[in-house]
Amino acid sequence: MLADYVPPYHATVVERLLEAGATIVGKTNMDEFGMGGTTETSAFGPTRNPADPERVPGGSSGGSAAAVAAGEADLALGSDTGGSVRNPAAFCGVVGIKPTYGLVSRYGLVAYANSLEQIGPFGRSVEDAAALLDVIAGPDERDATTRYDAADGVWDAAGATDEDGEDAHPAEATEYAAAADGDVEGTTIGVPTELVDGADDAVRAVFDDALAALSARGAETVEVSLPSVEHAVQAYYVIAMSEASSNLARFDGVRYGPDGDAAAGGDWNESFAAVREEGFGEEVKRRVLLGTYALSAGYHDKYYEKAQDARAWVKRDFEEAFTAADVLATPTMPVLPPKRGESLDDPLSLYLMDANTVPVNLANLPAISVPAGESDGLPVGMQFVGPAFGEASVIRAASAVEG
Ligand code: GLN
Repeated sequence: MLADYVPPYHATVVERLLEAGATIVGKTNMDEFGMGGTTETSAFGPTRNPADPERVPGGSSGGSAAAVAAGEADLALGSDTGGSVRNPAAFCGVVGIKPTYGLVSRYGLVAYANSLEQIGPFGRSVEDAAALLDVIAGPDERDATTRYDAADGVWDAAGATDEDGEDAHPAEATEYAAAADGDVEGTTIGVPTELVDGADDAVRAVFDDALAALSARGAETVEVSLPSVEHAVQAYYVIAMSEASSNLARFDGVRYGPDGDAAAGGDWNESFAAVREEGFGEEVKRRVLLGTYALSAGYHDKYYEKAQDARAWVKRDFEEAFTAADVLATPTMPVLPPKRGESLDDPLSLYLMDANTVPVNLANLPAISVPAGESDGLPVGMQFVGPAFGEASVIRAASAVEG
Protein backbone atom coordinates (compact mmCIF):
# COMPACT_ATOMS: atom_id res chain seq x y z
CA MET A 1 0.00 0.00 0.00
CA LEU A 2 2.86 2.37 0.79
CA ALA A 3 5.56 0.90 -1.46
CA ASP A 4 6.07 4.14 -3.39
CA TYR A 5 4.97 6.51 -0.67
CA VAL A 6 7.25 9.43 0.14
CA PRO A 7 6.18 11.20 3.34
CA PRO A 8 5.70 14.97 2.95
CA TYR A 9 7.25 15.74 6.36
CA HIS A 10 9.65 14.26 8.93
CA ALA A 11 8.49 12.39 12.00
CA THR A 12 9.40 14.19 15.23
CA VAL A 13 11.97 11.50 16.05
CA VAL A 14 13.69 11.99 12.69
CA GLU A 15 13.64 15.76 13.08
CA ARG A 16 15.31 15.44 16.49
CA LEU A 17 17.94 13.07 15.09
CA LEU A 18 18.80 15.49 12.29
CA GLU A 19 19.01 18.34 14.78
CA ALA A 20 21.39 16.26 16.88
CA GLY A 21 23.66 15.79 13.86
CA ALA A 22 22.76 12.23 12.81
CA THR A 23 22.85 11.07 9.19
CA ILE A 24 19.78 9.17 8.02
CA VAL A 25 20.99 6.53 5.58
CA GLY A 26 17.74 4.82 4.66
CA LYS A 27 14.49 3.14 5.54
CA THR A 28 14.58 -0.38 6.90
CA ASN A 29 12.49 -3.44 6.11
CA MET A 30 9.67 -4.49 8.41
CA ASP A 31 6.56 -6.62 8.62
CA GLU A 32 3.72 -4.96 6.75
CA PHE A 33 2.27 -2.24 9.01
CA GLY A 34 4.23 -3.76 11.91
CA MET A 35 2.10 -6.92 11.85
CA GLY A 36 4.32 -9.90 12.45
CA GLY A 37 7.30 -11.09 14.40
CA THR A 38 9.71 -12.30 11.71
CA THR A 39 9.80 -9.57 8.97
CA GLU A 40 8.41 -12.20 6.59
CA THR A 41 5.11 -10.39 5.99
CA SER A 42 6.99 -7.48 4.39
CA ALA A 43 5.73 -6.49 0.94
CA PHE A 44 9.42 -6.21 -0.05
CA GLY A 45 10.29 -9.77 0.97
CA PRO A 46 12.07 -11.15 4.04
CA THR A 47 15.24 -9.92 5.77
CA ARG A 48 17.95 -12.38 6.85
CA ASN A 49 19.38 -12.59 10.34
CA PRO A 50 23.07 -11.58 10.28
CA ALA A 51 23.71 -14.09 13.11
CA ASP A 52 22.48 -16.92 10.82
CA PRO A 53 21.18 -16.07 7.33
CA GLU A 54 18.88 -19.13 7.31
CA ARG A 55 16.98 -17.67 10.22
CA VAL A 56 14.57 -14.77 10.61
CA PRO A 57 15.82 -11.53 12.21
CA GLY A 58 12.64 -11.30 14.28
CA GLY A 59 10.17 -8.50 13.76
CA SER A 60 8.36 -6.49 13.05
CA SER A 61 11.30 -4.06 13.02
CA GLY A 62 13.66 -6.80 11.77
CA GLY A 63 15.36 -4.66 9.14
CA SER A 64 16.44 -2.14 11.78
CA ALA A 65 17.88 -4.79 14.10
CA ALA A 66 19.63 -6.57 11.22
CA ALA A 67 21.14 -3.32 9.91
CA VAL A 68 22.60 -2.56 13.34
CA ALA A 69 23.77 -6.15 13.92
CA ALA A 70 25.46 -6.23 10.51
CA GLY A 71 27.16 -2.87 11.09
CA GLU A 72 25.31 -1.17 8.22
CA ALA A 73 24.17 1.49 10.66
CA ASP A 74 25.34 2.52 14.12
CA LEU A 75 21.81 3.00 15.38
CA ALA A 76 18.29 2.45 14.16
CA LEU A 77 14.69 3.10 15.12
CA GLY A 78 11.84 0.64 15.28
CA SER A 79 8.29 0.66 16.55
CA ASP A 80 7.16 -1.58 19.37
CA THR A 81 3.43 -2.29 19.58
CA GLY A 82 3.78 -5.70 21.16
CA GLY A 83 7.50 -6.41 21.08
CA SER A 84 8.66 -5.31 17.64
CA VAL A 85 11.80 -3.61 18.93
CA ARG A 86 12.70 -6.12 21.65
CA ASN A 87 11.97 -9.25 19.58
CA PRO A 88 14.35 -8.46 16.67
CA ALA A 89 16.93 -7.04 19.11
CA ALA A 90 16.92 -10.40 20.90
CA PHE A 91 17.03 -12.48 17.70
CA CYS A 92 19.84 -10.42 16.10
CA GLY A 93 21.94 -9.97 19.25
CA VAL A 94 21.62 -6.19 19.66
CA VAL A 95 20.02 -3.88 22.23
CA GLY A 96 16.47 -2.56 21.82
CA ILE A 97 14.42 -0.30 24.07
CA LYS A 98 10.65 0.04 24.26
CA PRO A 99 10.01 3.35 26.04
CA THR A 100 7.17 4.07 28.46
CA TYR A 101 4.03 5.05 26.55
CA GLY A 102 4.17 8.82 26.17
CA LEU A 103 7.92 9.29 26.48
CA VAL A 104 8.55 9.41 22.72
CA SER A 105 6.45 11.30 20.18
CA ARG A 106 4.50 9.19 17.69
CA TYR A 107 4.02 12.15 15.33
CA GLY A 108 4.88 10.86 11.87
CA LEU A 109 4.61 7.18 12.80
CA VAL A 110 2.19 5.17 10.66
CA ALA A 111 -0.36 4.01 13.22
CA TYR A 112 -0.94 0.31 13.83
CA ALA A 113 -2.39 0.30 17.37
CA ASN A 114 -2.10 3.76 18.95
CA SER A 115 -2.75 2.83 22.55
CA LEU A 116 0.08 0.29 22.59
CA GLU A 117 2.93 1.53 20.44
CA GLN A 118 6.09 3.53 20.96
CA ILE A 119 9.07 4.25 18.74
CA GLY A 120 12.21 2.76 20.26
CA PRO A 121 15.98 2.74 19.62
CA PHE A 122 18.40 -0.03 18.60
CA GLY A 123 22.14 0.00 19.28
CA ARG A 124 25.02 -2.43 19.55
CA SER A 125 25.46 -1.46 23.21
CA VAL A 126 23.06 -0.39 25.95
CA GLU A 127 24.80 2.97 26.12
CA ASP A 128 24.37 3.56 22.37
CA ALA A 129 20.67 2.70 22.44
CA ALA A 130 20.21 4.87 25.54
CA ALA A 131 22.00 7.79 23.88
CA LEU A 132 19.55 7.54 20.98
CA LEU A 133 16.69 7.54 23.47
CA ASP A 134 18.10 10.73 24.95
CA VAL A 135 17.77 12.37 21.55
CA ILE A 136 14.24 11.23 20.68
CA ALA A 137 12.56 11.38 24.11
CA GLY A 138 10.50 14.25 25.42
CA PRO A 139 7.23 16.09 24.99
CA ASP A 140 5.99 17.10 21.55
CA GLU A 141 3.17 19.54 21.00
CA ARG A 142 2.24 17.53 17.91
CA ASP A 143 1.51 14.37 19.93
CA ALA A 144 -0.89 15.03 22.79
CA THR A 145 -0.06 11.65 24.35
CA THR A 146 3.52 12.69 25.12
CA ARG A 147 3.78 13.42 28.79
CA TYR A 148 4.94 16.73 30.18
CA ASP A 149 4.62 15.63 33.79
CA ALA A 150 6.73 12.61 33.00
CA ALA A 151 9.34 14.94 31.66
CA ASP A 152 9.35 16.78 34.96
CA GLY A 153 9.61 13.57 36.92
CA VAL A 154 12.42 12.16 34.86
CA TRP A 155 14.59 15.07 33.82
CA ASP A 156 14.22 17.40 36.78
CA ALA A 157 14.60 14.70 39.39
CA ALA A 158 17.84 13.67 37.75
CA GLY A 159 18.98 17.28 37.82
CA ALA A 160 19.23 17.55 34.07
CA THR A 161 20.02 21.21 33.66
CA ASP A 162 22.17 23.19 31.25
CA GLU A 163 25.05 25.51 32.20
CA ASP A 164 22.68 28.32 33.22
CA GLY A 165 20.77 26.07 35.55
CA GLU A 166 17.77 25.97 33.22
CA ASP A 167 15.97 22.71 32.56
CA ALA A 168 17.80 21.08 29.68
CA HIS A 169 16.17 19.79 26.53
CA PRO A 170 16.16 15.99 26.82
CA ALA A 171 18.47 15.74 23.85
CA GLU A 172 21.10 17.64 25.83
CA ALA A 173 20.52 15.89 29.11
CA THR A 174 22.03 12.50 28.10
CA GLU A 175 20.52 11.14 31.26
CA TYR A 176 19.66 7.71 29.85
CA ALA A 177 23.10 7.06 28.41
CA ALA A 178 24.61 8.02 31.76
CA ALA A 179 22.47 5.38 33.46
CA ALA A 180 24.34 2.62 31.59
CA ASP A 181 26.88 2.35 34.40
CA GLY A 182 26.50 -1.36 35.21
CA ASP A 183 25.87 -0.68 38.88
CA VAL A 184 23.25 -3.12 40.16
CA GLU A 185 24.53 -3.33 43.72
CA GLY A 186 21.43 -3.39 45.92
CA THR A 187 18.95 -3.59 43.00
CA THR A 188 16.06 -5.99 43.55
CA ILE A 189 15.28 -7.97 40.40
CA GLY A 190 11.87 -9.64 40.29
CA VAL A 191 11.60 -12.82 38.22
CA PRO A 192 8.00 -13.48 37.11
CA THR A 193 7.55 -17.25 37.22
CA GLU A 194 4.88 -17.27 34.50
CA LEU A 195 7.18 -15.62 31.93
CA VAL A 196 10.20 -17.80 32.65
CA ASP A 197 8.54 -21.22 32.83
CA GLY A 198 7.24 -20.96 29.26
CA ALA A 199 10.70 -20.49 27.72
CA ASP A 200 12.58 -23.23 25.86
CA ASP A 201 15.42 -24.93 27.79
CA ALA A 202 18.11 -23.43 25.53
CA VAL A 203 16.84 -19.93 26.31
CA ARG A 204 16.27 -20.70 29.97
CA ALA A 205 19.88 -21.82 30.50
CA VAL A 206 21.32 -18.55 29.16
CA PHE A 207 18.78 -16.54 31.17
CA ASP A 208 19.60 -18.35 34.43
CA ASP A 209 23.36 -17.82 33.91
CA ALA A 210 22.83 -14.11 33.29
CA LEU A 211 20.72 -13.80 36.44
CA ALA A 212 23.43 -15.56 38.46
CA ALA A 213 26.00 -13.13 37.10
CA LEU A 214 23.82 -10.21 38.22
CA SER A 215 23.55 -11.70 41.72
CA ALA A 216 27.33 -11.96 41.79
CA ARG A 217 27.42 -8.21 41.09
CA GLY A 218 25.31 -7.46 44.14
CA ALA A 219 21.75 -7.63 42.82
CA GLU A 220 19.11 -9.47 44.77
CA THR A 221 16.63 -11.67 42.88
CA VAL A 222 13.12 -12.41 44.12
CA GLU A 223 10.31 -14.46 42.59
CA VAL A 224 7.20 -12.50 41.65
CA SER A 225 3.93 -13.62 40.12
CA LEU A 226 1.89 -12.08 37.29
CA PRO A 227 -1.16 -14.38 37.10
CA SER A 228 -2.94 -12.18 34.51
CA VAL A 229 -0.28 -12.67 31.83
CA GLU A 230 -1.94 -15.97 30.97
CA HIS A 231 -4.51 -13.82 29.12
CA ALA A 232 -2.12 -11.19 27.79
CA VAL A 233 -1.57 -12.57 24.28
CA GLN A 234 -5.32 -12.94 23.67
CA ALA A 235 -6.08 -9.49 25.07
CA TYR A 236 -3.24 -7.92 23.10
CA TYR A 237 -4.34 -9.36 19.76
CA VAL A 238 -7.99 -8.35 20.24
CA ILE A 239 -7.00 -4.77 21.13
CA ALA A 240 -4.24 -4.48 18.50
CA MET A 241 -6.45 -5.85 15.71
CA SER A 242 -9.40 -3.68 16.74
CA GLU A 243 -7.30 -0.52 16.66
CA ALA A 244 -5.65 -1.63 13.41
CA SER A 245 -8.98 -2.21 11.67
CA SER A 246 -9.94 1.36 12.46
CA ASN A 247 -6.53 2.90 11.68
CA LEU A 248 -6.17 1.15 8.35
CA ALA A 249 -9.48 2.49 7.04
CA ARG A 250 -7.53 5.48 5.69
CA PHE A 251 -5.74 3.28 3.13
CA ASP A 252 -8.34 3.52 0.44
CA GLY A 253 -6.62 4.52 -2.80
CA VAL A 254 -7.71 8.16 -2.44
CA ARG A 255 -5.25 9.36 0.19
CA TYR A 256 -2.81 6.44 -0.04
CA GLY A 257 -2.19 3.44 -2.23
CA PRO A 258 -2.83 2.41 -5.82
CA ASP A 259 -5.51 4.19 -7.81
CA GLY A 260 -8.69 2.11 -7.71
CA ASP A 261 -10.84 4.07 -10.15
CA ALA A 262 -10.24 2.09 -13.29
CA ALA A 263 -11.32 -1.23 -11.81
CA ALA A 264 -14.40 0.18 -10.11
CA GLY A 265 -16.02 2.21 -12.88
CA GLY A 266 -16.95 5.11 -10.57
CA ASP A 267 -18.39 3.13 -7.63
CA TRP A 268 -16.41 4.34 -4.61
CA ASN A 269 -17.25 1.32 -2.48
CA GLU A 270 -15.95 -1.01 -5.14
CA SER A 271 -12.99 1.22 -5.68
CA PHE A 272 -11.97 1.06 -1.98
CA ALA A 273 -12.44 -2.70 -1.96
CA ALA A 274 -10.32 -3.18 -5.09
CA VAL A 275 -7.52 -1.04 -3.70
CA ARG A 276 -7.52 -2.81 -0.34
CA GLU A 277 -7.65 -6.22 -1.99
CA GLU A 278 -4.63 -5.33 -4.07
CA GLY A 279 -2.72 -3.20 -1.58
CA PHE A 280 -2.84 -5.26 1.63
CA GLY A 281 -1.01 -8.52 2.32
CA GLU A 282 -2.57 -11.61 3.86
CA GLU A 283 -1.66 -10.92 7.49
CA VAL A 284 -2.95 -7.35 7.30
CA LYS A 285 -6.25 -8.53 5.79
CA ARG A 286 -6.61 -11.17 8.49
CA ARG A 287 -6.23 -8.51 11.16
CA VAL A 288 -8.58 -5.99 9.57
CA LEU A 289 -11.21 -8.73 9.35
CA LEU A 290 -10.73 -9.97 12.92
CA GLY A 291 -10.55 -6.43 14.33
CA THR A 292 -13.70 -5.36 12.52
CA TYR A 293 -15.45 -8.46 13.83
CA ALA A 294 -14.31 -7.86 17.42
CA LEU A 295 -15.66 -4.30 17.32
CA SER A 296 -18.93 -5.06 15.57
CA ALA A 297 -22.31 -4.61 17.28
CA GLY A 298 -23.13 -7.62 19.41
CA TYR A 299 -19.53 -8.77 19.74
CA HIS A 300 -18.00 -5.63 21.18
CA ASP A 301 -18.81 -6.62 24.80
CA LYS A 302 -17.74 -10.18 24.27
CA TYR A 303 -14.27 -9.48 22.90
CA TYR A 304 -13.10 -5.87 23.00
CA GLU A 305 -14.43 -5.06 26.46
CA LYS A 306 -13.14 -8.33 27.92
CA ALA A 307 -9.73 -7.60 26.46
CA GLN A 308 -9.77 -4.16 28.09
CA ASP A 309 -10.59 -5.80 31.43
CA ALA A 310 -7.66 -8.16 31.02
CA ARG A 311 -5.45 -5.20 30.14
CA ALA A 312 -6.40 -3.45 33.39
CA TRP A 313 -5.63 -6.66 35.28
CA VAL A 314 -2.18 -6.94 33.68
CA LYS A 315 -1.50 -3.33 34.71
CA ARG A 316 -2.46 -4.07 38.33
CA ASP A 317 -0.29 -7.19 38.41
CA PHE A 318 2.76 -5.19 37.32
CA GLU A 319 2.03 -2.49 39.91
CA GLU A 320 1.91 -5.17 42.58
CA ALA A 321 5.18 -6.71 41.35
CA PHE A 322 6.93 -3.34 41.54
CA THR A 323 6.14 -3.12 45.25
CA ALA A 324 8.54 -6.07 45.68
CA ALA A 325 11.14 -5.38 42.98
CA ASP A 326 12.91 -2.45 41.29
CA VAL A 327 12.92 -4.11 37.86
CA LEU A 328 11.63 -7.41 36.45
CA ALA A 329 13.72 -9.81 34.34
CA THR A 330 12.47 -12.35 31.78
CA PRO A 331 13.77 -13.98 28.63
CA THR A 332 12.81 -11.54 25.83
CA MET A 333 11.69 -14.32 23.47
CA PRO A 334 10.75 -17.78 24.73
CA VAL A 335 12.40 -19.39 21.67
CA LEU A 336 15.55 -19.12 19.53
CA PRO A 337 15.15 -17.36 16.15
CA PRO A 338 13.12 -19.67 13.86
CA LYS A 339 14.28 -20.69 10.38
CA ARG A 340 12.83 -18.71 7.51
CA GLY A 341 9.44 -20.02 6.37
CA GLU A 342 8.99 -22.09 9.51
CA SER A 343 6.28 -20.07 11.20
CA LEU A 344 4.63 -18.24 8.32
CA ASP A 345 1.88 -20.82 7.80
CA ASP A 346 0.92 -20.87 11.43
CA PRO A 347 -0.13 -17.39 12.60
CA LEU A 348 -1.11 -18.67 16.04
CA SER A 349 2.38 -19.97 16.82
CA LEU A 350 3.71 -16.56 15.77
CA TYR A 351 1.31 -14.78 18.10
CA LEU A 352 2.34 -17.02 21.01
CA MET A 353 6.00 -16.07 20.51
CA ASP A 354 4.99 -12.63 21.87
CA ALA A 355 4.08 -13.98 25.33
CA ASN A 356 6.84 -12.10 27.18
CA THR A 357 6.74 -8.83 25.27
CA VAL A 358 3.02 -7.96 24.91
CA PRO A 359 2.24 -7.68 28.66
CA VAL A 360 4.63 -4.70 28.76
CA ASN A 361 2.72 -2.85 26.02
CA LEU A 362 -0.64 -3.62 27.64
CA ALA A 363 0.71 -1.97 30.81
CA ASN A 364 2.45 0.88 28.85
CA LEU A 365 5.73 0.23 30.71
CA PRO A 366 9.39 0.66 29.66
CA ALA A 367 11.48 -2.39 28.77
CA ILE A 368 14.81 -3.25 27.21
CA SER A 369 16.25 -6.33 25.52
CA VAL A 370 19.98 -6.94 25.93
CA PRO A 371 22.07 -9.82 24.53
CA ALA A 372 22.60 -12.26 27.43
CA GLY A 373 24.64 -14.92 25.65
CA GLU A 374 24.28 -17.54 22.94
CA SER A 375 22.81 -20.97 22.50
CA ASP A 376 24.02 -23.03 19.50
CA GLY A 377 25.64 -19.87 18.18
CA LEU A 378 22.31 -18.02 18.22
CA PRO A 379 21.76 -14.86 20.28
CA VAL A 380 19.53 -14.99 23.36
CA GLY A 381 18.02 -11.77 24.69
CA MET A 382 17.18 -10.86 28.27
CA GLN A 383 14.36 -8.42 28.97
CA PHE A 384 14.15 -5.96 31.86
CA VAL A 385 10.84 -4.24 32.60
CA GLY A 386 10.60 -1.13 34.78
CA PRO A 387 7.89 0.97 36.39
CA ALA A 388 6.41 3.78 34.25
CA PHE A 389 9.13 6.25 33.22
CA GLY A 390 11.72 4.08 34.96
CA GLU A 391 13.87 3.86 31.80
CA ALA A 392 17.03 4.61 33.76
CA SER A 393 16.62 1.53 35.97
CA VAL A 394 16.14 -0.93 33.07
CA ILE A 395 19.07 0.66 31.22
CA ARG A 396 21.25 0.30 34.32
CA ALA A 397 20.28 -3.36 34.84
CA ALA A 398 20.82 -4.20 31.15
CA SER A 399 24.24 -2.57 31.15
CA ALA A 400 25.25 -4.88 34.00
CA VAL A 401 24.48 -7.88 31.74
CA GLU A 402 26.96 -6.57 29.19
CA GLY A 403 29.61 -7.02 31.90
N1 GLN B 1 4.20 -9.45 16.80
C1 GLN B 1 3.31 -8.45 17.31
C2 GLN B 1 2.21 -8.21 16.31
O1 GLN B 1 2.29 -8.74 15.27
C3 GLN B 1 4.02 -7.19 17.64
C4 GLN B 1 4.17 -6.26 16.50
C5 GLN B 1 4.72 -4.90 16.86
O2 GLN B 1 5.21 -4.67 17.96
N2 GLN B 1 4.62 -4.00 15.91
O3 GLN B 1 1.28 -7.51 16.55
